Amino acid sequence: MKKIIIIGGGIAGLAAAYRIQRKISEGANLECILLEGSDQFGGKISTEKSDGFVIERGPDSFISQKPAAMQLCKQLGLEDRLTGTNPNSPKTFVYTGGKLVTMPDGLSLMIPTKFLPFALTSLFSLPGKIRMALDLLIPRKDGDSDESLASFVRRRMGEEALSKMAEPMLAGIYASDPEKMSIGSTFPMFVETERKYRSLILGMLARKKAMLINAGKRPHTSHSLFMTLKDGLGEMVDAVIKKSPNIQFKSGAKVAALEKKKDGWNAKLGNGSECQADAIILATPGSITAKIIKPIAPDSAELLDRIHYVSTATVTLGYKKEGFSHSLDGFGFVVPKAEGRSILACTWTSSKFPHRAPEGYVMLRCYLGGALQEEIAEKDAETLERLVRNDLQEIMGIKETPIFCKVFKNNKSNVQYHVNHSERIDSIMEDLKNFPGLFLAGSAYRGIGIPDCIQNGNQAAESAFDFLNSKSHVSI
Ligand SMILES: Cc1cc2nc3c(=O)[nH]c(=O)nc-3n(C[C@H](O)[C@H](O)[C@H](O)COP(=O)(O)OP(=O)(O)OC[C@H]3O[C@@H](n4cnc5c(N)ncnc54)[C@H](O)[C@@H]3O)c2cc1C
Repeated sequence: MKKIIIIGGGIAGLAAAYRIQRKISEGANLECILLEGSDQFGGKISTEKSDGFVIERGPDSFISQKPAAMQLCKQLGLEDRLTGTNPNSPKTFVYTGGKLVTMPDGLSLMIPTKFLPFALTSLFSLPGKIRMALDLLIPRKDGDSDESLASFVRRRMGEEALSKMAEPMLAGIYASDPEKMSIGSTFPMFVETERKYRSLILGMLARKKAMLINAGKRPHTSHSLFMTLKDGLGEMVDAVIKKSPNIQFKSGAKVAALEKKKDGWNAKLGNGSECQADAIILATPGSITAKIIKPIAPDSAELLDRIHYVSTATVTLGYKKEGFSHSLDGFGFVVPKAEGRSILACTWTSSKFPHRAPEGYVMLRCYLGGALQEEIAEKDAETLERLVRNDLQEIMGIKETPIFCKVFKNNKSNVQYHVNHSERIDSIMEDLKNFPGLFLAGSAYRGIGIPDCIQNGNQAAESAFDFLNSKSHVSI
């Protein structure tokens, strides 16, 4: 019987495992083992439940426009567990000039698509608005070389759009430095829009119009842009394991290196044991994958090592609702770096996902660190709590003492897609063609979000399956 080893039990490795389980259920004669280095599965996805609060350590939702995560939840029988954001309080704020300013209606990923709210907002100065509107006239960029998010936004919409929107909102999603992050690998739709329509504003308006026309033709979907599971994303992790009876899930199984054998692969574990297989799916973070493959593929390892990771921290606070001094009428706010605060963003979790806090309580989650303020995320938990509570008092006027404060440190956890990332990944994939039976999956390559990682894990499983089929004389 052919055997596949998956190394890494984050969502990419788990998605690969579940895809292989489905092949086995359909009759494939395969053995599969997933080796996870830590003592729990899920990787960055980790949910804690306590006294009716659902607390996410890392990701708290996923985008529904990319279908892989929704599809996986449905396949796992979690359809009834899916839930969207609260439709009653969708406002988001930007902290600027010492106050919270509502993001104007019609702003689609920093691009204004409604004239009046944009004209009236106090978020941008008049010269800033005029500069953004110049996007309507500016010619498209020559050539198709990659550039940074900052260079792209500065060129099309000016400095103010960069500092008040693109840096806190767009680079913030990636905990990244807009001067270094690749526009092509993080927001390819902007590059495509410029290529196709020249102006981002005209392109967004054309897309909105097409969506309105198509909305009448497509079946109605009630999904919000961001979806999650009622008891947290950890539900997805538990369900994959429960619904994959033919996969062996082993935790505490840290792989140190890979060895190429005449007829397959040997995974050497940190505890000295070894595990053989016909195909390997490596679903570990890029920096770890580099170490594991260094003995066999030093060139790819060197390129992988150049993929940078930064530290972030999340601080979640629960409060009694009675007497709480803020209305929490919205999803939360982002903070541009120029404001000089410690927190990058704050989600009003109990407003955005009301089921995450029990009746009579509210919950907030603050995000710190990232490429622009990494030193903050590396401070101790006590300091992080103090910095957050100080910021919340000065930004939102919250003086109350929380009933709990949970600090989670995500040390070197957020992968950074720097300019020309995609070229580096192409070179790695080209080099790895010399190692048939070895497949890579995960957030280091072609998408950081949960749907991208699931899609990537699915693809790695399909490629491994096809590879084994092509080696066998009979189909497996
Ligand atoms: C703080 C934070 C917030 C985020 N928020 C969101 C969000 O809201 N929405 C969204 O879509 N995305 C979000 N992301 C991104 C997303 O969560 C990740 O990109 C994704 O979960 C990564 O999955 P993965 O399987 O590629 O890697 P990981 O989750 O890193 O999994 C890799 C696994 O490999 C294991 N491993 C490491 N070394 C070894 C070894 N030697 N041997 C065996 N196993 C090993 C690790 O223990 C881990 O379990 C967030 C990320 C972070 C850090």
